[in-house]
Amino acid sequence: MTEIIPFAIACDRLTISIRSEDGKNASILRAWGNNAEFFKNRQFSLKDKNLAALTYAKNLCLSRNYSKEYKEIKYFDDEPRDDEEFNSFLAVPVGVDECKGLILVESLKRNAFGDSCKELLSRIATSAGLAIEKIMIFEKARELATHDGLTGLYNHRQFQQILKDEITRALRYNDPLTLIICDIDYFKKVNDTWGHQFGDTVLKGVASHLNESIRQGVDTASRYGGEEFALVLVKTDLEGAIETAERIRSQIHQITFKAPSGEDVHVSMSLGIAVYRQHARHIDELIKKADKALYRAKENGRNRVEVF
Ligand code: GH3
Ligand code: MG
Ligand code: MG
Repeated sequence: MTEIIPFAIACDRLTISIRSEDGKNASILRAWGNNAEFFKNRQFSLKDKNLAALTYAKNLCLSRNYSKEYKEIKYFDDEPRDDEEFNSFLAVPVGVDECKGLILVESLKRNAFGDSCKELLSRIATSAGLAIEKIMIFEKARELATHDGLTGLYNHRQFQQILKDEITRALRYNDPLTLIICDIDYFKKVNDTWGHQFGDTVLKGVASHLNESIRQGVDTASRYGGEEFALVLVKTDLEGAIETAERIRSQIHQITFKAPSGEDVHVSMSLGIAVYRQHARHIDELIKKADKALYRAKENGRNRVEVF
């Protein structure tokens, strides 16, 4: 659009922004023309009283001359002041039922944008809106299909896929690979004592801690089932896995959750380790053995790590 619009509509600056998912902010993803670099990749609040935020709120095509009496804020308080002031603008929302994005074209001339410009930019915005909406629906569907709704970790199905892929890779490159399956101890008691909602809070907290405890973009954490999680540690042998598991075990125990009654609540976790090749050569066998190790950790008193 930054290539097409300035060709089709005479203007001195073009900025295109997209609303964040929570609807609180928007980011300028594309900018062309005067001071374009200043605007690129900057975020603004949709609560602000600037021109862009107002257009988002109204979700209507807006075009007029800028006021001569005062400098209108387009996006930011610290916008560069040009020697030559912009004199007119045309703002067109992008999106079908609600404003998901905004195309703003500005001109140094007064009355630069007539009805034919509005008509043309609206058509471009409609096509862009349909394309963006399609992408958003697709991404949402993919997120729902691969992630767990409560914790945001990968779901069981995605875990199976990841482990399968990592086993294939480990086999090809002769790399070590470890699976850890872990389970919160006496979690039923947490639900029974403080309620299911607090139980959910604990689950989310444990999940995010697990996710932060592994190497980002390399290892993966998944919700295996109710209060059970699976960690796939790539290029990790038994020694490395024990170290990671022990660190996670001791840190989880130190997290303080505030119960609705005001009490400090601590949970512990039991972890079972199985190493690819050393303990198993097939995915089902590897999972079964990590599960067995977990079962042994439970039998041996919980809040501990066991290797198959
Ligand atoms: P153990 O130490 O042997 O693991 O005991 P436990 O109480 O953790 O194990 P058990 O399997 O008896 O109980 C697991 C509980 O986890 C029961 C179930 O209600 C709870 N649970 C599973 N999924 C969720 C969830 O999404 N939210 C909440 N709040 N609880 C859940
Ligand atoms: Mg449990
Ligand atoms: Mg369980």
